[in-house]
Amino acid sequence: MEIIKQPHITFIGDIDGKRILRKLEDSGRKCWQTDAKEDSSEQFVGKIIGRGHTSVLEHEIFTCDIITDRGVMSELTRHRIASYSIESTRYVKYNGRMQFIKPVEFCKDPYDEKTPDDYELELIWENSCRESEIAYISMLSYGAKPELARQVLNNSLKTEIRFTINMRSARNFFDLRCDVAAHPHMKQIAIPMLLFLQEKVPVLFDDIKYDKKFADKYLKNWRDMVSVKEIGG
Ligand SMILES: Cc1cc2nc3c(=O)[nH]c(=O)nc-3n(C[C@H](O)[C@H](O)[C@H](O)COP(=O)(O)OP(=O)(O)OC[C@H]3O[C@@H](n4cnc5c(N)ncnc54)[C@H](O)[C@@H]3O)c2cc1C
Repeated sequence: MEIIKQPHITFIGDIDGKRILRKLEDSGRKCWQTDAKEDSSEQFVGKIIGRGHTSVLEHEIFTCDIITDRGVMSELTRHRIASYSIESTRYVKYNGRMQFIKPVEFCKDPYDEKTPDDYELELIWENSCRESEIAYISMLSYGAKPELARQVLNNSLKTEIRFTINMRSARNFFDLRCDVAAHPHMKQIAIPMLLFLQEKVPVLFDDIKYDKKFADKYLKNWRDMVSVKEIGG
């Protein structure tokens, strides 16, 4: 068994903010049959968002690979206006290399004092992962297929998800999942994605609020949680 300390997000291809804004401007200008001017795209897209003419934003997407757990997977996939390819617990056989994602609640800042209860909770969780791995491997040894043995796995099982979403739907996703009310494990993946995109294409995402208290407590290292992978042609 391996415990993964935190989720990870890999953007597939870098986010070229200028190119994205130029394409969105070009798409929006179809409505009025006007031409773009030099450096007009940022202001144009800002206006589009301000007026709620956000269907234009659907012409641009981003794709990323998310390493997270099965609990987050079930929340993430509630977002219907997105596309998913998800590691299959039916076809992937986890014999001897089962990985679990450590819940963010157990990843307090090292300078925060952990209470005895914190240690106890973490131990209970770790034992349940170990037990679920043992049960899974026992079931395989009695001839069960992974599609049956998976029933004993817990929600912390690592899973990999390819996630593609258009910019309009992404704004809705971040609004809901970076908010104070969102589940901490969702915030743990959504906020680093948002912060990364706010740097790349500020005008598209700057107005979206996120739970700063949570970010200060758990996401000081958010840059380590995000990377970019280029896929060569
Ligand atoms: C804090 C929080 C708690 C939650 N708790 C629960 C819970 O306890 N139980 C639970 O089941 N879910 C829960 N959810 C999930 C939530 O109800 C949504 O399913 C999820 O957030 C996806 O949001 P969405 O529908 O806006 O996104 P998408 O599915 O991506 O849809 C995007 C937008 O498209 C439009 N749309 C999509 N489909 C339809 C449709 N059929 N009809 C009309 N408009 C549509 C809506 O405007 C929608 O906002 C929770 C979400 C949050 C953020």
